[in-house]
Amino acid sequence: MTDLAALLQDIAGQMRSAEDRGKVADYIPQLARVDPGKFGIAVALADGTTHHAGDALEPFSIQSISKVFTLAIALGRLGDSLWNRVGREPSGLAFNSIVQLEYEQGRPRNPFINAGAIAVTDAILSGHQPREVLGEILHFIRVAADDPDIHIDEAVARSEQATGHRNFALAHFMAAAGNLRNAPDLTLGTYFHQCAIRMTCMQLARAGRFLMTAAGGARMVSADRVRRINALMLTCGHYDGSGEFAYRVGLPGKSGVGGGILVIAPGRASIAVWSPGLNAQGNSKLGREAVELLARKMGWSVFG
Ligand code: GLU
Repeated sequence: MTDLAALLQDIAGQMRSAEDRGKVADYIPQLARVDPGKFGIAVALADGTTHHAGDALEPFSIQSISKVFTLAIALGRLGDSLWNRVGREPSGLAFNSIVQLEYEQGRPRNPFINAGAIAVTDAILSGHQPREVLGEILHFIRVAADDPDIHIDEAVARSEQATGHRNFALAHFMAAAGNLRNAPDLTLGTYFHQCAIRMTCMQLARAGRFLMTAAGGARMVSADRVRRINALMLTCGHYDGSGEFAYRVGLPGKSGVGGGILVIAPGRASIAVWSPGLNAQGNSKLGREAVELLARKMGWSVFG
């Protein structure tokens, strides 16, 4: 049997010394300040044990990984009617692409590209104040992680608010197409704050446990939805790098431009990895390489 703790140490060692670390996101100025030398990895196993290596106890900006949690909340709240507003197909385009949204009359391809996630946040905002919705998102994540010490980084939220012109464009375009129910400022303010949640790899791996087993997840999300959220993570979780991630890693995952990736080995493990440098598709470069190594050594794959 593979010694997981030793394997994680080994992977962290390899990743720490890697020279080509990708490029830290700089379109959100506050994220550009993060040290590209960081690397952390944590695994929560189905048997309840956790293992970690590297900077796994240091918080980072989860960014788009938050879209998994808001999708779970929105499906719980609205059920399948959510799919009237957002699709379930891979986009094959950049995370913040505008062009497809216009072609497709303001209905985003999937809930994990920015436009789709903004529509999902808008859906859960209706009838509530932004602070109530942010409280609900934090509550969901804290319960999932079984850890109350998870917070929003206001400086990151403000930094993105000040520079998020593409996201404003996406939201206003959806408003023009009749696919936004709230004022774009309110929806985007909520979206920027959910993206600015800070978590450690350990917290994130623990928070992902609700997606690990359909049965185990039933406490928070129905078994059917757990399967479907995993299907969307596999097909759409890495923007225009989703096919490559599925090919190399063979597991559902969701990346964020903070350099984190949440990866689910169904029935076996919830994995969180963090390395701030990104590849050309905006996904953590070493994060992907690390989970590829881990999945191969452990024999974890949804493809048998
Ligand atoms: N807050 C980021 C944005 O909207 C999220 C993108 C990402 O993490 O991939 O641009």
